[in-house]
Formats: sequence, structure tokens, C-alpha cells
Amino acid sequence: MSADNKEQDQLYKVRHSAAHVMAQAVLELYPHAKIAIGPPIDTGFYYDFDLGKNEDNRPRSFSPEDLAIIEKRMRQIIAGRHPFAYREVSADEARALFHDQPYKLELIDGLEKGGIDEYGNEVAEKPPISTYQQATFEDLCRGPHLEHTGQIPADAFKLMNIAGAYWRGDEHNPMLQRIYGTAWRNKKELSEHLTMLEEAKKRDHRKLGRELEIFILDDEVGPGLPLWLPNGAVMIDELEGLAKETETAAGYERVRSPHLSKEDLFLRSGHLPYYAESMYPPMELEGVKYYVKPMNCPFHHKIYASKVRSYRDLPVRLTEYGTCYRYEKSGELIGLQRVRSMQMNDAHIYCAEEQFEQEFMGVIALYLKYFAIFGIEKYMMRLSLHHPKGLGKKYVDNPRLWQKTEEMVRNAMRNGNVPFFEAPDEAAFYGPKIDVQMWSAIGREFSLATNQVDFAVPPRFDLTYVNREGKEETPLCIHRAPLGTHERTIGFLIEHYAGNFPVWLAPQQVRVIPITDGHNEYAHNLAARLKAEGLRAHADLGTDRMNAKIRNAQLMKIPYMLVVGDQEVANETVALRKRDGSRQDALPVGEFIAHIKQSIRQRAAGL
Ligand SMILES: [Zn+2]
Ligand SMILES: [Zn+2]
Repeated sequence: MSADNKEQDQLYKVRHSAAHVMAQAVLELYPHAKIAIGPPIDTGFYYDFDLGKNEDNRPRSFSPEDLAIIEKRMRQIIAGRHPFAYREVSADEARALFHDQPYKLELIDGLEKGGIDEYGNEVAEKPPISTYQQATFEDLCRGPHLEHTGQIPADAFKLMNIAGAYWRGDEHNPMLQRIYGTAWRNKKELSEHLTMLEEAKKRDHRKLGRELEIFILDDEVGPGLPLWLPNGAVMIDELEGLAKETETAAGYERVRSPHLSKEDLFLRSGHLPYYAESMYPPMELEGVKYYVKPMNCPFHHKIYASKVRSYRDLPVRLTEYGTCYRYEKSGELIGLQRVRSMQMNDAHIYCAEEQFEQEFMGVIALYLKYFAIFGIEKYMMRLSLHHPKGLGKKYVDNPRLWQKTEEMVRNAMRNGNVPFFEAPDEAAFYGPKIDVQMWSAIGREFSLATNQVDFAVPPRFDLTYVNREGKEETPLCIHRAPLGTHERTIGFLIEHYAGNFPVWLAPQQVRVIPITDGHNEYAHNLAARLKAEGLRAHADLGTDRMNAKIRNAQLMKIPYMLVVGDQEVANETVALRKRDGSRQDALPVGEFIAHIKQSIRQRAAGL
């Protein structure tokens, strides 16, 4: 869906109109408030206000109780069915209208000069200055809006929270008070959204990651640099095992590269100077600057170039779980979602043009395989295309290859029935790219991995192959990372499964629990036997009572508990309790082992 369609969308109008209604309510309740901007967003809307300063010279804020009062006033305005009226005004008229609203005056100056819109965002065109008015409230706005306030479903919106936000996102500017609201088509959608948020909070990967002993962040190590605990390391091994198995079958070759290199490499790749802001500063040694790598690509290009390649060698598929380091602002780091060190399921495929479609579909097949394994039912691929106007500036100046690769990608996705939409003028500098959006089990959206076509970098690295006619040609390169980074993927999986990982991925698969001390030896030997079978099993021989041991295993979300007492010792059986609460008594040990091994081999979703 393009941006234009999105603006026409009814829900967009509901959210945008709700933002105006909220601003009216706030101005009525706080007549001295200064209003800034209030756009619709993904799940609702916000509006930024300046309420002046407290006695201690700090910005005055709203309280949670205020939100309830504002919401109540909004419902009254909605019930008034006030029409939204549009008009165009001159810059001077606009200035007169908003003479006591300094933020609006700043925006009007920008609109008059051109280059920004009424939210202060940069735009190419110069739109006319216009306003929308409902009841007593008039806002600088291009719309679109509903016909009247009564079309906002009064039972389908809610003011959510208050946050500080700098005017125009600049920390040198005043701190404004942002009220976030959520708005939906109907009450049911709203309640689904609120339930999802509740559930997401319970499943928060930062909370579960600590409770399940998967990862920690330590201030002395540094922000955004996660430490993987033994349970997290097991999950990493399993994901790498999955990648290794899948990629080997798909004809990839594994390589390894160092974590740092000389400046020269990144100058050649073009990361320097353009990407320098996202890189860690250099270290200098023997008069040479070294950088830790923000990406693995340049190393793989060097490996490709390490010998003469013939068309018969192509495609060359080099893969590595490479650790990269990127500088993200401290304020933007979030658990495993935004980090500074990341281990990436990276690979680069070097192929001839005529091999491209098949290679590209091969990559899509990996995505689909992983989605099936993780039970990801809803996903969408976004194909970002170039715009001819940007050739030679935003985009590599090679119209033929743009046309051709975009067409190939589009056809490949259509032929493969892959759900996708196109985003014009959003491509990477060096070629079209696919971003993958997926939804967790509770319907929260994540963007995980990208798949990019690159026809700019191979010539920069002088990558060639000898074609059938004995002439040198430049290969295409596909960058891909279907399993993303361990950080983002495991963060996602924690939420997706709420920590109830499938058996193959669970850090501990089996916990053996003796009924009394007298059964400790049997429990110990049983765990040893399971370990010898390659299972991650542990006997809980501590001093807790059996019920406490069961509760601990449940808290750690261990898939299988084997409770053993006199009967089990006598018959060489186990009493199986599954994580989902189901039970099976007097199960022969051999049968249990066969069952769990099959589940692991198939990477089954269920228990
Ligand atoms: Zn507006
Ligand atoms: Zn790459």
C-alpha cells in the first residue's frame, strides 16, 4: 500500500481526526497550552503540547488523571458531530490565526519557504498552507479528515501514556509533553490491541530473558552489549545448527573473518566516510587505523576475490555467523532489539545475471522454511524499488540493471506466491531490497531481516568471473540474512513463544525429579542416560521438596519433567509431566527417549 492510499484509509482519518479532537480538548482544559504537532501513527495518534514551566523551572507535565479528564472531554466533542472544515490560507493569514502559538508560527515560516510539511518533515513539493477546523479548534493541516467528529468511534480510542519529546526531535529545543492515544475502527479492535499490549508486557524479552537466564546486560560491560548466559548460548548453538544444516544443503560454503580490519577495506567498500557515524571510532596501531566491523560484506568480497572464478564456479555462496559492531545512540538501545554488538546470519551470493532469479528464490525458500519451523503464519515482504529521478544520486546509475533486477525480483515473488508490496523510491543505494515484516504469535509486528541485491559493490572490489567466451564479467551479489541476528531473532522468539520454546530449541529439555532422596540415584542415572543420548537433561537432586522442584521446572518452562519414585525405579519407567500440564504415567524410558528424539529431529512445534 502506498503512502497515498494510506492517507485515504478510513482508519488513518479516524486517528488523525482523534489527534485534532484531543488538541481541542487540551486547549479547552489548559487554555495556556501551546500546541506543536499531532500526526496519526501506526496504532493511533499523538499530539505534543507545551504546558509552560513549574516553579522549579522544569516543564509542566500531564498526570495520568488528566488523561481521563481529556478523554471525557474528547467524547463530548465527538458527540457534538462537529464538521471538519478545510480552507487554504495565505502565510500572513496563518500567522494571524496562530499569533499566540509559537510552534505553529515556526512551522508556517517553514511552509512559506517550502521544503517542510506541517509536521516539520522534509518534503520535496511546496504544498499550499491550509487548515482544518472543528468546533472551536483550528489546526494547520493538510488532512485528510473525517467529515465530522461523530465519525470517530467513541468506544474505540484510548489515551495511553505521556512522554517527553523534544520539539522537532532536537535535544537543544524545549521538551514538550506528548500524549499518545490508540484508536481503532471499533471496540473489538481496541480491546484486541489492549490485550496484545498486556500480553506483550508479560512476554517482554527483557523480563523473560533474565528470568529464564538467557541473557543479561551489564553496565560495566557496556550498554547494548549483551552477555549470553549458558541457556542463551544453547539457543544460539541450535539456531546456528539450523542455519548450518539448511545452508549446507543449499550449497553454501562457510567462511570466517576477523572482527576488525584496516581502514582501507572500509574506504573501498564505501562504509567510510558515509557510514562512519554508525561505526565505532578507529584504534590506531603502528600508524594504521583499524575499525571493528559494522558488516561482514567486505571480508566476503575479499574471499571471493582470493582466486580466479570461472562461470562454472558460480554461484559462489559464502556464509558466516559474523559478529558486527555498530554504534547506536545510548537512548535508542532496547534490550536485544537495538544493540551494539550483533551476530548475523550473514551470507553473500555471487552469481551471473542469468542465475539471479533462481538464487533469489533459493533465498526466499530459506525464509519460508524458517517461518514454517517457527510457526510464523503472518508475514509480508516489502520490495523497495529505485526511482529514475534518483539515478546517479540516491541510486547507482545503471538503469538497465535496476529495471532488470527489479523485474526479476517481482516475477520471482509473484511466481512463488510470496505476499509482498512495493515501496517506490525506497531502495538501497546499490540495488532493490526486500525487508521482511512478520508478526509474533500475539500479533506484534517485527521487522527482522533483509535480502538485498547489489550491483554496485562487486565492481568496487574488482570482483569478476571469466565467462563462457573467456571474457571477464562482474557478478551480481545478493546480501541475505534470513535468521537476522541472534539478538533480534532470540528477542523475537522469546516473545513469540512466551519462553515456551519448542523442545529442539529449549535450553533444558528434560528435568528429572525424584519423589524422595531415596530415588536420587535412579534420577541421577536416568539423567546421565538421557545426556548420553544427546539430550539436555538435568536431575534436580537439591533439598527442595518434590512440589517445589516441579514448580521450579515450570517457572523455567522446561518442556518435560520426569517424576520418579518406587514404581518407576521398579519398572524402569517414568511419570511424564509435560509443560502444557498433560501427563502420562508408567511410560517406559526407551519410549520417552524415542519420542523426544523424534521431536528434536523434526524440530516439531508441539510437545
Ligand atoms: Zn492535522
Ligand atoms: Zn552484506
